[in-house]
Amino acid sequence: MIFGHLPAGYIMSNILWETSDKKTSFYKTFLFWGMFGAIAPDTDLLYSLLIDHAYHHSYITHFPIFWISLLLIALLWLRIDKTRRNVAASCFIFTLNALVHLILDTVTGHILWLAPFSNQHFSLITERSEGAHYFTQWGFALELFLIFLALCVWLKSSGRDV
Ligand SMILES: [Zn+2]
Repeated sequence: MIFGHLPAGYIMSNILWETSDKKTSFYKTFLFWGMFGAIAPDTDLLYSLLIDHAYHHSYITHFPIFWISLLLIALLWLRIDKTRRNVAASCFIFTLNALVHLILDTVTGHILWLAPFSNQHFSLITERSEGAHYFTQWGFALELFLIFLALCVWLKSSGRDV
């Protein structure tokens, strides 16, 4: 997925924000960490492009077990620490959206869901569509849908006092 990660991070962050106690001064920080988490796994692109030249989905930053572990730690922190709830909530949305990133990457690419225990790739791309131009695949339609949905959430929340 190319364009859908940031919109998905925006949508997820707003959904979770709506379920929180909504301290309005914290919204922008929460949104920042949520959207940063949505693209965090792709920071490995720099290493891939500049140094290793390998497929970046084979790095630990695209291993689900890495983000699931961090998500569980963040969730535990959020449950236990009542004094630094904003920091814990930021870590939680960061890691949650990084995990959502991997789910979305599975739609349009290949993810090692069982790594490091197995090198089997998982993907929702069919063999028929794999050779087709990306912009004609249904994964691209999903990206457009996420952008549209994020715009709807933004329009709805723009009336909110933050
Ligand atoms: Zn990615």
